[in-house]
Amino acid sequence: MGLLQNDSTIFEAIRKEQERQHQTLELIASENFVSLDVLEAMGSVMTNKYAEGYPGKRYYGGCEYVDIAEKTAIDRLTRLFGAKYANVQPHSGAQANFAVFYALLQPGDKVMGMNLSHGGHLTHGSPVSVSGKWFEIVSYGVREDTQLIDYDELEEIAKREKPNLIIAGASAYPRKIDFERFRQIADQVGAKFMVDMAHIAGLVAAGLHPSPIPYADVVTSTTHKTLRGPRGGIILTNDEDIIKAINKSVFPGIQGGPLMHIIAAKAVAFNEALQPTFKEYAKQVIENAATLGETLKNEGAALVSGGTDNHIVLLDLRPWNLTGKEAEKLLEEAGITVNKNTIPYDPEKPFVTSGIRMGTAALTTRGMKHEEMVKIGKIIAAVLKSKGDKVVLEKAKETTKPICDAYPLFQQAITV
Ligand code: PLP
Repeated sequence: MGLLQNDSTIFEAIRKEQERQHQTLELIASENFVSLDVLEAMGSVMTNKYAEGYPGKRYYGGCEYVDIAEKTAIDRLTRLFGAKYANVQPHSGAQANFAVFYALLQPGDKVMGMNLSHGGHLTHGSPVSVSGKWFEIVSYGVREDTQLIDYDELEEIAKREKPNLIIAGASAYPRKIDFERFRQIADQVGAKFMVDMAHIAGLVAAGLHPSPIPYADVVTSTTHKTLRGPRGGIILTNDEDIIKAINKSVFPGIQGGPLMHIIAAKAVAFNEALQPTFKEYAKQVIENAATLGETLKNEGAALVSGGTDNHIVLLDLRPWNLTGKEAEKLLEEAGITVNKNTIPYDPEKPFVTSGIRMGTAALTTRGMKHEEMVKIGKIIAAVLKSKGDKVVLEKAKETTKPICDAYPLFQQAITV
């Protein structure tokens, strides 16, 4: 007896989700497909264990084996990014960010983060987030002409506003971020400097995006995007006082018991990212994004900032007279999953938007390369330019299906 017999509702939902993941082209920039080893660790008995505290200093007995998992995760993570200290307990990227705020700030302090509609994250000061409610937020953004971060304006704002904390990092910024420049600006105004590298962590791990570790006081990340681990968060620093504050802030500050099965899976993923094959993977992710972007441009598409340096391609749909909401739906019908996204200076509301965000981390994990990216770019352009013409949509489906079938996903994992 198993899940099929005991709970067919959830069994079926999982089976269908597995099928959906196999049968669609996943271009959501924040998603990826974990290895079977990562899945195995996540689905393990470590989920049963309470382990409040840290390795060797727990509030519960019976922690000798979960201690191995957490110590191993910390050791691998610090090696992967060349940092002195790490906390692997945050349940998510948002939790990692709030742990930093709790450790370094007081309510009412001034925080400077990237404008959400220019590519920043909700937790960097959006009014709908606790970050925007409990701190005084000043935001910076990109230039209207280049759509690149305006470092000169950022410096001006920082000098005028004197924030306690400056945050670099984004959810929808297709270009490299100059962490060294951020550090110089933070130093000029006496601010602490935090980098949220959630999106680019895998590229940083592979040495293909400059690392924030030498420049930031503290670095946060998710583990499930380009880093290709389980859903979760991490915090890194080279500063002994900061890690002490962070450790108190994560537990007991904002979380209770750590998710030990997830921490075990993080350890597995960090080991995978330490292998030379991961560097090849990350290189391919960047090449695939460049190919996708170029193909779309050749089809007449407008890309925010004109291109990409990382895994993200941000499409400005205004020249094609479509909204992000419409484009997301049309592509879904063609078997391609993307998300609507604001573009800088977007005239549309956040639930409508003028853009779509795409990323190549997931499809690259499936093994897709140049040829597939060209095909996919052409399908996307055809579907959007025709505004979902039935004949074009049918043809698109005929193209996406064989691509999915040629790169099967989780064949070995069809156990449910
Ligand atoms: N930080 C950035 C830059 C992100 O893009 C995201 C997720 O999209 C997060 C933090 C939040 O991560 P989570 O969804 O795990 O809370």
